[in-house]
Amino acid sequence: MTNPKLVVVGAGPIGLDTALQAQLAGFDVTVLERGRVAEAVLSWGHVRLFTPFQMNSSKAGRAAAGVENQIRHDALLTGREYVQSYLKPLSQSAALVGRIREHHEVLAVSRELTGKSQLIGKPARAIRPFRILVRNDQREEVITADILIDSTGFMSRHRWIGNGGIPARGEQHFLSESNYQIPGRDSQSLDAFAGQSVLVVGSGFSAATSVCLLNTIRQQSPGTQIHWFTRNRNEQPMRPIRSDPLEERARLTREANQLVASGGVSWVAGAAVDQINSAGGRLRVCFEVSGIRDEITVDRIVANPGYRPDPTPFEELQIHRCYATDGPIKLAAHLLGDSSGDCLTQQAAGIDLLKNPEPGFFIVGAASYGRDSRFLMQNGIQQAADLIGSLKESVQ
Ligand SMILES: Cc1cc2nc3c(=O)[nH]c(=O)nc-3n(C[C@H](O)[C@H](O)[C@H](O)COP(=O)(O)OP(=O)(O)OC[C@H]3O[C@@H](n4cnc5c(N)ncnc54)[C@H](O)[C@@H]3O)c2cc1C
Repeated sequence: MTNPKLVVVGAGPIGLDTALQAQLAGFDVTVLERGRVAEAVLSWGHVRLFTPFQMNSSKAGRAAAGVENQIRHDALLTGREYVQSYLKPLSQSAALVGRIREHHEVLAVSRELTGKSQLIGKPARAIRPFRILVRNDQREEVITADILIDSTGFMSRHRWIGNGGIPARGEQHFLSESNYQIPGRDSQSLDAFAGQSVLVVGSGFSAATSVCLLNTIRQQSPGTQIHWFTRNRNEQPMRPIRSDPLEERARLTREANQLVASGGVSWVAGAAVDQINSAGGRLRVCFEVSGIRDEITVDRIVANPGYRPDPTPFEELQIHRCYATDGPIKLAAHLLGDSSGDCLTQQAAGIDLLKNPEPGFFIVGAASYGRDSRFLMQNGIQQAADLIGSLKESVQ
């Protein structure tokens, strides 16, 4: 095969890095992105990354974007700064210019004249090109590829705040997409919380970030009340990582826990949300802790229960997913076998774990971890290098 056609779905940090490595390795690369470059990162652009720039960029990426001596390796950028100073220049670099199609959403993928249950494990399946149904504005087209890489991330769908992870009664009616964002994308949206009673629901770093951002409003406007529900029942809402080498992550953990300890934020551990109702223009939230029912009435809800990838565009392909994390099974089993709870200790797992029953199809980046929240960009950058290196060898 000369110059195989390689399509990357998703122009996030890992999709862009994969595309760059593939283009440099001689593949004919196209990137399909349903929004703008780095759309998902921009949705939390006001939040500071807790990993330094060196962990969020590759050597080849820094060279292509022309930023090697311009951004300090230890810089802790906000999401927006990261996009503007690195990902955007990378997407416009000589290697990638003209190769990224923004506002092109992948709707569905198959193989030419071959259904999901045909040619199972047969070499003939590998030589049928992928057919990718893409929507751009109102227009639909089919693009073909020899190699297809899913780098669609994990933010396509939020999770639910109800008991056990399904929607609470009323959640779908009373909450909209904006409730699931970290508040403060622009300063006005944060000001809207002044003087309000706010309930934050979630146990991870996004929820902790929301609590700390809302506290800046509470300091300016003391009538603001912050309530925080977590599913966990640890001694503190955020479990500190011993000798955490990521200072920004340690700082966030400390600040969120201190706000609870000082009484600035009222924390309910082990809360299972059952129902959301309207109550005279406010929201009544019914919940249970250890079998005891209770309720609280608030003005606003910030729901940060996390995200889950959307595998539906790829469901006609032969992909074996983990029943617990929705990630591809080999990598998921590897990750589940690793008892460490810290994302920093996760090693990119090598090319064999990225292979699927579907030949020529790979999942990289945050999408490859499914619901496992330990993914870091440095894992994805290593995946891209391993995968493209191996593909290059196999076509030579
Ligand atoms: C608040 C917050 C802070 C974080 N901080 C850090 C940090 O400090 N360090 C770190 O390593 N990680 C951090 N993360 C995780 C970070 O989001 C990921 O590491 C990173 O964005 C993953 O990159 P990705 O390219 O795999 O996916 P994404 O950045 O999610 O990109 C996926 C892209 O695919 C596109 N897409 C999705 N579906 C389709 C489709 N059907 N068709 C076409 N395009 C599609 C999306 O629009 C998006 O642009 C943070 C996450 C959050 C939410």
